[in-house]
Amino acid sequence: MTRLKDFPYNHILVLGLAKSGTAAARVLLQHGKKVRVNDQKAAANDSEVKKLKAMGADMILGSHPICVLDGIEIIVKNPGINYENPIIKEAVERQIPIITEIEIAAQLTDAPIIGITGSNGKTTTTTLTTEMLKKSNQAVKVAGNIGIVATEIAENLVENERLVLELSSFQLMGVDKFKPKIAVLLNIFKAHLDYHKTFENYKQAKFNIFKNQTEDDYLVYNANDKNIIAEVGKCKATKIPFSVKEQLANGAWMDENSIYFKDEKIMDRIDISLLGEHNYENILAAVAAAKLSGATNEGIRTVLSMFTGVKHRLQFVGNFHERLFYNDSKATNILATQKALSAFEQPVILLAGGLDRGNEFTDLLPYMKHVKALVLFGETANKLKEIGKKANIPVIRLTENVQSAVQIAFEISQQKDIILLSPACASWDQYRTFEERGDMFIQAVHTLV
Ligand code: ADP
Repeated sequence: MTRLKDFPYNHILVLGLAKSGTAAARVLLQHGKKVRVNDQKAAANDSEVKKLKAMGADMILGSHPICVLDGIEIIVKNPGINYENPIIKEAVERQIPIITEIEIAAQLTDAPIIGITGSNGKTTTTTLTTEMLKKSNQAVKVAGNIGIVATEIAENLVENERLVLELSSFQLMGVDKFKPKIAVLLNIFKAHLDYHKTFENYKQAKFNIFKNQTEDDYLVYNANDKNIIAEVGKCKATKIPFSVKEQLANGAWMDENSIYFKDEKIMDRIDISLLGEHNYENILAAVAAAKLSGATNEGIRTVLSMFTGVKHRLQFVGNFHERLFYNDSKATNILATQKALSAFEQPVILLAGGLDRGNEFTDLLPYMKHVKALVLFGETANKLKEIGKKANIPVIRLTENVQSAVQIAFEISQQKDIILLSPACASWDQYRTFEERGDMFIQAVHTLV
């Protein structure tokens, strides 16, 4: 059985069940800890609830009474639960430490952890780093915010396996002893202020990724991000910067033609399949993390020449009838759609629209010079139409949904056109998730064949 390396607590509250809470509660019970579980939604007859109860957990379901804190030494909090929650406020008041399930995962393994965070690009960089190590014949597993419960992976790692973890600011808020061998800090933009309240709090959560690192560890960081460089001085790990702008003797960088790690050329940019300037940051960060973990240049080159994007993130869907289709359904805000449009020089037919959050979309205007047609749907269709008119886009069509938008885009397209779904809006007016919207796009594209 696994062991918890350094976890001197006996009375633990798991707050919020979900998949990660369930795994944490199970592991803690297996290690003989007294576990209380509190969840507002879970029902007594859920199969997971029954299992935990049978293992000895004290289950308090349906509400969050303050008394769940009584006798508790530490809380394993679901990352989604806000610090404004009365239980959490009270726990802070009582100085009860609050961690997340990531901390439990890290307690279960001695494997080197590569932890990756940033406001944007986490999933892409996490995927690239993992694939580069795999293609270099290294044993590696991936988990965390990418949608795989870290505890379940950590407890089953075999010898010499390493663990790549995608980490959100919500998970990093709860760092106690978590200490990645390699931490990657991609960028910090203002985000999630509803949760963190201030930009300062959000930044501090991100910086927790290197809080416990020592000289034996590494911090891979964006040398062009002013928020990051203002703070890296406080990190004790060996610093490995990356930059899309300048040559670096001690990190990953690029010039017009190639990408490099320190003084070694890794590959030519022309052979890289991933589109978009923003992805070069992710690529360089992944190259640095992978090289520090022993990846081969050949392994890195194989991945970068084949990898065309994580699903729904400027993902190349295919070339059908000489039109190139891209699914960027994850672009739920204007910034992401700007990035997607900047990735192309050839004529683009843009499919956009979705939930109305009160944006006027004027910030898209400078990015629309090569947009030859707009096909719009969802709550924001009319607002986007006005922007299209201002940009003098000759063809603007309104339609019901993504599926019919694909059909229209195909009808008005010519050979060599880019047909891009990059909605600049969340999907919730018409679809349950951005994944569902992207899947509808892919399906509709395939019916054109
Ligand atoms: P995350 O996991 O942090 O949400 P993803 O890799 O899923 O990041 O990318 C989500 C979107 O964020 C992309 O579609 C792109 O628009 C944008 N993005 C990705 N990488 C970067 C980056 N390095 N800088 C700025 N924006 C980025």
